[in-house]
Amino acid sequence: MAEVYLGLGSNVGNRIAQLAHARDAISKTAGKIQAASSIYDTAPWGPIPQDNYLNQVILISSELAPRDLLAALHEIERAAGRDRANEVRYGPRTLDLDILIHGDKAVQEEGLTIPHPRITERAFVLVPLAEIAPGLVLDGTPVRELLDRIDSKSVARYDPI
Ligand code: ADP
Ligand code: MG
Repeated sequence: MAEVYLGLGSNVGNRIAQLAHARDAISKTAGKIQAASSIYDTAPWGPIPQDNYLNQVILISSELAPRDLLAALHEIERAAGRDRANEVRYGPRTLDLDILIHGDKAVQEEGLTIPHPRITERAFVLVPLAEIAPGLVLDGTPVRELLDRIDSKSVARYDPI
């Protein structure tokens, strides 16, 4: 059993419903949810102009090895209508599920790197991660300190009206 942090994101369709459905599917096929951050409304990252995302980080306890977990997450993305074969890299997506941290495992393989290589530069990951795991140490530095080093004004707690 491993403690696994997952990053959830959506910027197409009913974003809040897609995150809720993803949490439900994750709890059924990947592992029990132990903690969930607030949901944040975030500016898109990268070269493609697109709508804002909703992002969340959750902690699950999972029996699945990293590759099996990635396959389970890809299946949940696919069920949400994501078509990886025909999408633009870093473009809009109904659902994006990333393995951020998998216990104490370090993985560096074709198509899978754990810890996720871009955690420390992405405010939309660090803000929700710091909410549920401020003392978690990445590259020798606690998440709360990593957050102090970056600009996080493009990440706001989502407050549906
Ligand atoms: P990103 O999540 O960085 O915006 P994508 O969702 O388009 O990018 O995923 C690109 C590729 O990243 C996927 O094909 C997946 O195999 C790979 N990948 C590498 N490491 C991970 C990880 N830790 N979690 C999820 N996907 C990963
Ligand atoms: Mg992804």
